[in-house]
Amino acid sequence: MSTMASTLRRNLRRERSFLLVRFISGSVSSGGAATEPRKQCIDKVLVANRGEIACRIMRTAKRLGIRTVAVYSDADRDSLHVKSADEAVRIGPPPARLSYLSGASIVEAAVRTGAQAIHPGYGFLSESGDFAQLCEDSELKFIGPPASAIRDMGDKSASKRIMGAAGVPLVPGYHGSEQDIDHMRMEAGKIGYPILIKPTHGGGGKGMRIVENEKDFVDSFLGAQREAAASFGVDTILLEKYITRPRHIEVQIFGDKHGNILHLYERDCSVQRRHQKIIEEAPAPNVTEEFRAELGQAAVAAARAVGYYSAGTVEFIVDTVSGQFYFMEMNTRLQVEHPVTEMIVGQDLVEWQIRVANGECLPISQSEVPMSGHAFEARIYAENVPKGFLPATGVLSHYHPVAASSSAVRVETGVEQGDTVSMHYDPMIAKLVVWGENRAAALVKLKDCLSNFQVAGVPTNISFLQKLANHKEFEVGNVETHFIEHHKNDLFVDPNNPDAAKVAYEAVKHSAALVAACICASEHLVWKESSHRSSLSIWYSDPPFRVHHNVRHTIELEWDNEYDGSSSNLLSFGVIYQPDGSYLIELGDNDSSGLRVRVTRVSKCDFRIEAAGVVTDVTLAEYSKDGYKHIHIWNGLEHYQFRQKVGMEVSEEEESVQHRSSFETASHPPGTVVAPMAGLVVKVLVENQDKVEQGQRVIVLEAMKMEHVVKAPSSGYIHGLGVKVGQQVSDGSVLFQIKDK
Ligand code: ADP
Ligand code: ADP
Ligand code: MG
Repeated sequence: MSTMASTLRRNLRRERSFLLVRFISGSVSSGGAATEPRKQCIDKVLVANRGEIACRIMRTAKRLGIRTVAVYSDADRDSLHVKSADEAVRIGPPPARLSYLSGASIVEAAVRTGAQAIHPGYGFLSESGDFAQLCEDSELKFIGPPASAIRDMGDKSASKRIMGAAGVPLVPGYHGSEQDIDHMRMEAGKIGYPILIKPTHGGGGKGMRIVENEKDFVDSFLGAQREAAASFGVDTILLEKYITRPRHIEVQIFGDKHGNILHLYERDCSVQRRHQKIIEEAPAPNVTEEFRAELGQAAVAAARAVGYYSAGTVEFIVDTVSGQFYFMEMNTRLQVEHPVTEMIVGQDLVEWQIRVANGECLPISQSEVPMSGHAFEARIYAENVPKGFLPATGVLSHYHPVAASSSAVRVETGVEQGDTVSMHYDPMIAKLVVWGENRAAALVKLKDCLSNFQVAGVPTNISFLQKLANHKEFEVGNVETHFIEHHKNDLFVDPNNPDAAKVAYEAVKHSAALVAACICASEHLVWKESSHRSSLSIWYSDPPFRVHHNVRHTIELEWDNEYDGSSSNLLSFGVIYQPDGSYLIELGDNDSSGLRVRVTRVSKCDFRIEAAGVVTDVTLAEYSKDGYKHIHIWNGLEHYQFRQKVGMEVSEEEESVQHRSSFETASHPPGTVVAPMAGLVVKVLVENQDKVEQGQRVIVLEAMKMEHVVKAPSSGYIHGLGVKVGQQVSDGSVLFQIKDK
């Protein structure tokens, strides 16, 4: 805080025309203290984005006294970013290309509402030179770099040529315009295998291919070209030496319109899945001060070479074998992981962006950039980790992100409990950002916050992030881009390992017993206060059972675990109400030991439990889906998920009636293939009655930043294929069937 205050004082002394000057002099609304002509200062900004980043930008704008305008698609009418804004304008239907990517509608919304500036956030139009140009042409300030820098850096080949000329180290490779396949193969030979093929206009890790040796070159090259043309509209390719053990380290740079450029240190973003970051940290662990300074200088040189201003990130790949670093690409926008930098330098980068757009100078010089402590960011996604990190959709029926109780914990989110994670956009739910005095302290905080981050209703990557954060190599900062791949045996549960399943099952038993006790306690509460029972209980089932009559009541819970189809998933408990008000819980019929549990309900979801003399607080969340009641429990560091067939307590006949419909829709005839994720059909590669071989590509689905190929599970003939290109399908919907003829 003291560095912040001294920065502010310095700014005052220098009499720069900062908004902040207005801000602290108390004349926020009139803007009287600003030395620039009033009309040049932004007092209303349109945020051309959605989700957490839109909310985060608006937060800073509000603090600066700037009014905010949100734009939204029909899918986002009631979303948090719309509620966070002073005004909101509808810009189109859910698909991004018809709404958040529609530059003309966004500019029109800004003109209509009288906003003087547009902040593009990240993704969507943030790296569109044309959009930046359109803003300027419409006399709107684009809160970002000049259109020319976006264009220069949008083409990875062109940017490499510029960087090479500026003396920034490049990965050995070929980035020329001669794209003839024989020429490219010759260049690949010169570089030496393995090589990496990249689309020059790519992003989000898409379309990249590793080629191990010359004989695979032609196939990979042609495939990458096709993919690049389809995804990015340009089929040019560049070749790079494939670095086998790299780290991804990037530098935050910042420039103003007066030629000042500085860097705000680096971030390590090596831990990636599908070439996409999931845990980032600042500063990078295990690097020397000398290396840090060199990296910073190279990044500033890179930014200077393209006349950069506003926030930008220069990404480097670091060869951990040689220790050499190379320029990879420059992202001409605010980066998803910018908060980790903000945490260690104590600055608000969105505020800087707004000031720079206003024509102000950077508030500090390079030597004044502070660095304090260490920060982590974990990206929390709605995704299906066991299915290969496929994006997931659904309703956030329980959403209690960890409380951001101090300035050392930040939760950046764009959703609330009850919101839907749809297939239209990136499935990121939140970013959890923590700060500590050093890396170890920050890591402790990260682990603690992850275990208290409660989401139910959609599958998430939270438990996977916990495994990452707890991995001993991560703990010592031994990160590299293949971290997940190299440590997969520690990070993923092997469904074919019965021993692992057994260990996990033992661990889950205790939590399951507590769930059973909470259910009974809730039911008991209901029974006692029967006049309000329907409003009181989330566990209410009809008819109520009389647990207080010393009857052994049976509760069955199915553990929703990562091992599919294992019969050991069903846990059956006997619960006996004791005269002293506690419950005796027995697992199975021959469990004579039993666990004595006393339950106090603290609030709708929170319970205080005394079990075997230990008192703990647990949270339970419940929701119904697909014919099941799903119950989550957060118990200290543990989080488990169980389910019960809906109407467990109902008589057998009723139950069979209730269940028939849901089971009939869930089970399909043999050979049926269903969509593994919600998404857009981008390719249908065969037709009905076509003969396919096992493993043959049939349909390509796409959800934000992810392509998934649906293959034939066996050889045979295609039937019932009805989906068309451009159609949205939901998770589990039938795509086609394979028959013998
Ligand atoms: P960063 O580089 O800022 O850490 P990413 O590279 O993961 O983050 O991407 C930033 C954002 O850009 C994503 O959240 C997404 O909205 C958008 N994005 C990136 N690549 C693509 C793509 N191929 N298609 C659509 N959106 C993309
Ligand atoms: P994108 O525009 O899709 O983000 P990048 O060029 O930034 O593409 O590369 C994305 C990721 O791919 C990097 O973070 C890194 O993990 C990996 N990568 C890129 N270039 C190389 C290389 N030459 N060798 C090894 N891995 C690389
Ligand atoms: Mg990149």
